[in-house]
Amino acid sequence: EEVKVDLGIHSYPIYISPGSIGYLGEWLSQADFSTRTLVVSDTTVGPLYGETVVASLQANGFAAELVCVAAGEASKCLTAAEKIYTQAILAGLDRKSTIIALGGGVVGDLAGFAAATYLRGVPFIQVPTTLLAQVDSSVGGKVAVDHILGKNLIGAFYQPKLVVIDPAVLETLPDRELKAGLAEVVKHGVIADNDFFAFLNDNSPAILAKDPAVLSRIIRRNCEIKASVVEQDEREANLRMILNFGHTIGHAIEAGAGFERYRHGEAIAIGMHGAALLSRYLGLCREDTVLALKNTLLRFGLPVQSSECRAEQLLSFIERDKKNISGSINWVLLEDIGRVTIRSDVPADLVKRVLTEITGI
Ligand code: NAD
Ligand code: ZN
Repeated sequence: EEVKVDLGIHSYPIYISPGSIGYLGEWLSQADFSTRTLVVSDTTVGPLYGETVVASLQANGFAAELVCVAAGEASKCLTAAEKIYTQAILAGLDRKSTIIALGGGVVGDLAGFAAATYLRGVPFIQVPTTLLAQVDSSVGGKVAVDHILGKNLIGAFYQPKLVVIDPAVLETLPDRELKAGLAEVVKHGVIADNDFFAFLNDNSPAILAKDPAVLSRIIRRNCEIKASVVEQDEREANLRMILNFGHTIGHAIEAGAGFERYRHGEAIAIGMHGAALLSRYLGLCREDTVLALKNTLLRFGLPVQSSECRAEQLLSFIERDKKNISGSINWVLLEDIGRVTIRSDVPADLVKRVLTEITGI
């Protein structure tokens, strides 16, 4: 399976197939890369899959070294990036050497940031191992590290040369991480594809049981949707905003409840429910559309409400976000399953009403 991301000179393929991490070396040997590579992973994924990837690279004539950062969001920082630079220098990586991210979104964003900046940019390959990374963060070219004052504040747009997705690695992914990734999968259906949304609902038991054939299919469709949005708006000037469906409230929930409380996808699930309610109150969509989304999220074991935050508090985080983007919030709102619209003129009292409803206080 191959999905092409068409971005002119920055185009790249996404290969999706079970067992693909074992073929990485072969694919690399077909392109014009120098023989040095650095595989960046974390302390959970490295021990599970690092050996397979390194062996595949070495079998194809590449020098490969593995560097592992501590698993978890705390590693998405400049200190960890420096650790990668140090390894890259010690391993003698030159401008045609490849940095390979083997892990979830944290490793992808971090290794991508290091690849974008080391020697002003070296070839970068994504081997995403969480569902979230496979359907979302590995496609689109956003790379970043966090600052203590905020997430993703230091980063770049930097496209990979290749994305290799192996659905079989999801076998070891904890259920909670799988479900968190499903929130972004549901999001892609909601913003762009009504039939795919129905497919998710019809196949929810197989998805939750990690059926490889069904997972491969949903990953492929997700990559297609995300790729098509990114192709039309690589730098998030406009259309790409629709990918932020559920994220305005979701980010506020993450900040309000504390980042340890929710996985990103869980906060986004609550945020999507909130955005749907807001759409309903604005008369943009019907009640049964809100219910369809809510029931799908519940079916995948995702939260749709939070008693961990107060409405006032969420509102203040949303206001703060607004200041950061200098001006008005672009709310991504629902018209129907598969169709969204962007509005910036949403009355504050309606937002407050929704926040009160989803915080249940
Ligand atoms: P993560 O990378 O922390 O992975 C979650 C956990 O799962 C980690 O403990 C990891 O070690 C473990 N893990 C990963 N793959 C595994 C596997 N196959 N088997 C067993 N354990 C495995 O988190 P995430 O949810 O993948 O990514 C979250 C990050 O992604 C956030 O920092 C977020 O900002 C970023 N993100 C970026 C974009 C983008 O466009 N660049 C989009 C969405 C999210
Ligand atoms: Zn997201």
